[in-house]
Amino acid sequence: MTLDWLKPAERLGSLPPYVFARLDELKANAQAQGVDLIDLGMGNPGGPTPQPVIEAALGAIQDERNHGYPPFEGTASFRRAITSWYHRRYGVKLDPDGEALPLMGSKEGLGHLAMAYINPGDVVLVPTPAYPAHFRGPAIAGADIHTILLRAENNWLIDFDDIPTDLAKKAKVLFFNYPNNPTGAVAPKSFFEEMVAFAQQHQILLIHDLCYAELAFDGYQPTSLLEIPGAKDISVEFHTLSKTYNMAGWRVGFVVGNRHVIQGLRTLKTNLDYGIFSALQKAAEAALQLPDHFLTEVQQRYSSRRDFLIKALATLGWQVDKPSAAMYLWVACPPGIGAADFAFLLLQKTGIVVTPGTAFGEGGEGYIRISLIAECDRLAEAVERLKTANIRYDSVPSHF
Ligand SMILES: *Cc1c(COP(=O)(O)O)cnc(C)c1O
Repeated sequence: MTLDWLKPAERLGSLPPYVFARLDELKANAQAQGVDLIDLGMGNPGGPTPQPVIEAALGAIQDERNHGYPPFEGTASFRRAITSWYHRRYGVKLDPDGEALPLMGSKEGLGHLAMAYINPGDVVLVPTPAYPAHFRGPAIAGADIHTILLRAENNWLIDFDDIPTDLAKKAKVLFFNYPNNPTGAVAPKSFFEEMVAFAQQHQILLIHDLCYAELAFDGYQPTSLLEIPGAKDISVEFHTLSKTYNMAGWRVGFVVGNRHVIQGLRTLKTNLDYGIFSALQKAAEAALQLPDHFLTEVQQRYSSRRDFLIKALATLGWQVDKPSAAMYLWVACPPGIGAADFAFLLLQKTGIVVTPGTAFGEGGEGYIRISLIAECDRLAEAVERLKTANIRYDSVPSHF
């Protein structure tokens, strides 16, 4: 029973229904029955944080100078580490005092930026499918959200012809993310140039999520939006240490770009939190300074799982695009079954957990996302179970 006077704020009601609820229920049931689940649902990277990062954290925890409230804008040395990393990695020069802000994970920053920049009724453009924080932050802020459908024929890139001019004129903010979660798509530099020209023409704030900046394969180098001349006037870019450095639980990310936008986010956060524990900021600095072989190891781990699973799924009739970045396969559902039903079926018949594409918005219908977070022997076991249950791209049991 909900008490009338204890009803949550209306902004909570603006959140789209939680697609994971039924999946969680099925997962709990399966676990209670002793099913050995193969969980490829979450994007939670497996494996330990690199040892030099752990050692930097241990040292910093022993130093009492790190025990008080951290500075609101993050420690000066972490901000410098961020801007040096940016310069080394992309050749982009940023001012550590004002153009870089540490965050308690990029999800926190994405949500709070929406609160800091979006008024109720403001027009916000968000691709579909998209990482949920890109539409939930604006939903909480009361935005008038217009989705832009991403399509396989366009390699999951935003097609600017899909955005009517009068909508573009009204839009205040556009969120986007390449390398993309969930589709695994990457965007060429020319796309970023087009994006900047589009935003300049229509005076739109661009919010780019570059959370897979370093999780790229086969020599592919993701582009930073800030490499494009003029981008800093109209955009900010989010990064996280969660994925590449196996630091999801540490909650460290950062935003870089336009100083006025960052100042607005900082003002909001000043009223809500104190930022990241200073000792963890020391550890994060160490992560950004890791020698390249740490990255190549992580990249190779994901690309070999990718290659293994694509090949194994092909024997069951699936043709899956080979992503050049991120940690997911975006896999078409067999014809005639929706994303949520297919995810439920996989769980019930095989104990394999995947994310239905609709968790990322209606544009994800017809697809499931498989996270490459298990070793190849577990992936092989998953494919064996599909074979045993006779689940192939062109034949799926009709009753489950
Ligand atoms: C995993 C992920 C994040 C990470 O968020 P953190 O809060 O930094 O852990 C952000 N954006 C996208 C697209 C992601 O896939």
